[in-house]
Amino acid sequence: MEFFDIVIVGGGPIGIACGLEAKKKGLTYVILEKGPIVNSLFYYPVNMQFFSSSEKLEIDEIPFISKEAKPRRSEALEYYRRIATSNKLDIKLFEKVTSVSKSENEFTVVSEKNSYTSKNIVIATGFYDLPNTLNIPGEDLPKVSHYYNDPHFFAGQKLAVIGASNSSVDAALESYRKGAAVTMVIRGEEVGQRVKYWVRPDIINRIEEGSIKVHYNATVKKIAETTITIETETGIETLQNDFVLALTGYKPNFKLLEEVGIQFSKDAKKIPWYNEETMETNVTGAYLAGVICGGMDTHKWFIENSRIHSKRIISNILK
Ligand code: FAD
Repeated sequence: MEFFDIVIVGGGPIGIACGLEAKKKGLTYVILEKGPIVNSLFYYPVNMQFFSSSEKLEIDEIPFISKEAKPRRSEALEYYRRIATSNKLDIKLFEKVTSVSKSENEFTVVSEKNSYTSKNIVIATGFYDLPNTLNIPGEDLPKVSHYYNDPHFFAGQKLAVIGASNSSVDAALESYRKGAAVTMVIRGEEVGQRVKYWVRPDIINRIEEGSIKVHYNATVKKIAETTITIETETGIETLQNDFVLALTGYKPNFKLLEEVGIQFSKDAKKIPWYNEETMETNVTGAYLAGVICGGMDTHKWFIENSRIHSKRIISNILK
């Protein structure tokens, strides 16, 4: 079995940044990614536009040139793929890591295809794998999805969008503009305050003019083949419905962190313990990078503010 200085779990933007930095500093490394390069970004909506401007998504100061100030998903896929391929990063794709363990001073990382040993591991697995489920009857029907992709699919259909954040608002607006009859079901009393400042007025105006229907202070209680049942302040209501997008956020998979013995805060945020200067956890040689650092607080870290993690980790390993 080959021995590496570092095994990096997750080939998202931040895992790639860690691999690039390791390579530049002459360390042996491998990146293990369960899907294609930047898998999470690949599954973002096809027309998605980042809220960050392109220079804030750059890694290692490699210029990210986009047509508009804020790049789109397709441009980000090009950018991160080109970084991985032109730097010939050792990234093994479609190779899911299933377990991580530590004995003495060595980690053993087992994937669906192979086993690796290393002196250090970096866990950069993000949070996009596990959706926050509604846990209601009918959620497992084929008409329900926790991921939104392409508005064309919903043309001429009665679409319910659950949630009030950026993803929900983008899905509602785009699908409405492709001819879907959109109803938003929002748990609170307004469209989320974190919705992109240039998009929020658009959704508010569409709601006020009645083009997109909305139920505030409402929760979905049941989903059936042709209807959804919601509870609002005025009681229970059943609406005709063809498709449901339940865009209620995502949470990280903590399995690998728990296996290796990383500690978490005891509150609901479940923030993993790490040293902010080095990104090393309570387990010597085990590092965290990227959005996984926020635990259940998935709004704390993004590419913009976590791309620095790679340099912190590699400089600490080199000490
Ligand atoms: P991820 O990109 O999630 O990468 C983690 C990788 O680990 C994935 O590729 C996954 O497949 C892989 N993985 C998981 N488990 C395993 C396993 N067991 N074995 C092997 N591989 C595994 N951030 C910004 O800075 N600006 C923005 O404008 C912005 N817009 C966003 C818009 C949307 C709709 C969303 C959802 C997020 C947005 N973000 C933005 C957040 C940003 O995309 C994430 O912060 C970024 O993807 C984090 O990178 P990461 O490498 O930490 O995690």
